[in-house]
Amino acid sequence: MENIRNFAVISHIDAGKSTLADRFLELTETVQKRKMQPQYLDMMPLERERGITIKMQPVRMKYKDYTLNLIDTPGHVDFTYEVSRSLEAVEGALLLVDATKGIQAQTLGNLELARQQELAIIPVVNKIDLPQARVAEAEKEIADLLEIDSSEIIKISAKEGTNIEEVLEAVTKRIPPPRGNKEKPLRALIFDSKYDPYKGVLAFVRVFEGEVKKDQQIYLIQTEARGEVKETGIFNPELRPVESLSPGEIGYLATGIKESGKVRVGDTITKIQNSKNPLFPHSKTQNSVLALPGYKEPQPKVFISLFPVKSEDYELLKSSLERLKLNDPALVFQPELKEALGRGFRCGFLGLLHAEIVTERLKREFNLDLVLSAPSVVYKIINQRDQEELIYTSADWPQPSEIKESKELWIKLKVLTPTSYLGRVLELLEGLESRQLETRYLGSEKVELIYESPLREIVTKNFYDKLKGISQGFASMDYQISEWRQARLVKLDILVLGRKEEALSRIVPEKEAQREGRKILERLKEALPSQLFSVPLQAALGGKIIARETLRARGKDVIAPLYGGDYSRKRKLLEKQKKGKKELKEKGRIKIPSKVFLEVFKS
Ligand code: GDP
Ligand code: MG
Repeated sequence: MENIRNFAVISHIDAGKSTLADRFLELTETVQKRKMQPQYLDMMPLERERGITIKMQPVRMKYKDYTLNLIDTPGHVDFTYEVSRSLEAVEGALLLVDATKGIQAQTLGNLELARQQELAIIPVVNKIDLPQARVAEAEKEIADLLEIDSSEIIKISAKEGTNIEEVLEAVTKRIPPPRGNKEKPLRALIFDSKYDPYKGVLAFVRVFEGEVKKDQQIYLIQTEARGEVKETGIFNPELRPVESLSPGEIGYLATGIKESGKVRVGDTITKIQNSKNPLFPHSKTQNSVLALPGYKEPQPKVFISLFPVKSEDYELLKSSLERLKLNDPALVFQPELKEALGRGFRCGFLGLLHAEIVTERLKREFNLDLVLSAPSVVYKIINQRDQEELIYTSADWPQPSEIKESKELWIKLKVLTPTSYLGRVLELLEGLESRQLETRYLGSEKVELIYESPLREIVTKNFYDKLKGISQGFASMDYQISEWRQARLVKLDILVLGRKEEALSRIVPEKEAQREGRKILERLKEALPSQLFSVPLQAALGGKIIARETLRARGKDVIAPLYGGDYSRKRKLLEKQKKGKKELKEKGRIKIPSKVFLEVFKS
């Protein structure tokens, strides 16, 4: 155990974590030269294409007499949860900073997480090969932030392989070895899980105490599931079976558990003892082995409904979501029925990027053709009986008379920007319903702006992309949910031909209802195919019409050929046409193609 080092790499997205991991894999000869390709640990096709890390991929390497376990972590704001999980399993972290960007919002956020775990932190400045690298400035920012001497900072180029060995040396010297007793009962923390077509449900674990090997009976403390170990192994980075896993080691177990929901991230695996007083029946307090401190339950914040374009794909969508959830515990979903779109799922995500990644994977890996609703956030209602209800979809919004109070989530938003973009960034922030809390200078060229704002604002106004756009990628953001606050929210109904179209309704702040209503009607007017008669489009709040548009009839102008004169003939023709239209109308509603919903949803 003295020779084991477990560490993670934390940084803002794009700082070069995966590239650095590549150099480690080469230097330690973990992956053969001919098999090597850039960002080796980004194994999902989608990761490769986008050049971002979505899933952390653990890897074990040999360096001198040491066994190094590296966990590559995602750096994007939506994946903080994944990062916090990787950090639970290690003793130290490399804090990687891009020399061309200096410290970024997620560098700060991840550093905070690492400090909470009391990890040893090794600061590294990357991309020193680039002409626009500002190594001295980055060093100064880091030294100030960590309150260290800049001589402790390692300067590298992950791309060109400069000073990589120094980093591995620092890992062996500055990160403490893991601790743990092999003789004690097994305690292993699940930090990830995955479904393998041959081996079944795999638990990725860090063993803290005891030993685990094939054929052992295991027990998962929180889910109270039992299983039998079919295989133990390590990440090489491909799965490679080993005899056993001991304290301090990171590896995987094939759990022999069939139901995927039973193997949950954050749970503790123990061994079933062959004593007269077994761990069953199942009370957690009676259990002699205590659960390790679990992880924070991921809280979905952004909701999007997914409907298969072909209704017969519903079952496929269901099984695909279940499959994805296995190694993405933050994904939640529940069935939803919408008249116009059929059966689908209301899905909860950590953020917009998370949503985008999941929907992309559904399309690519499972060949699903989907209709997506516009993203929305979760709201809370307090009804007249003083009960709280969470509202995930506007269809569940109660009648105004039943609502005593409505609330929404507020966030603490942190934006880090170079001073040269400060003006534009402030302008963007001003466009949000928000309040400035604090401004902090990091050195002389970087400002951290701290705001509070409703989560709804950054989700529905696509704040993240706009921030990137106006700052050429130099400004970055991070946020934490702070609390529920009272909000004046209303349900905006959309009526087509006087009939409420539930799928088009949405929850909006009262003061934006009118503007929002108009916007939706305009979109709808453009997207709807015209009918034989003119169709009124209305936006309403609790029965009161607040905006209207008319979709003009495509019907023939029957009186146009009749110049002047003969008024009664005109009237006859018009009446005849009117009668026909009336009959059409009375047959019911007009059919709204699902393409139209999609158009309006996307707004
Ligand atoms: P990650 O998001 O932190 O995993 O970052 P990646 O390893 O995917 O790298 C992001 C981008 O930066 C890629 O285009 C890399 O080629 C590039 N990159 C990484 N390290 C270096 C470096 O040392 N020098 C230069 N010039 N580019 C680098
Ligand atoms: Mg990466």
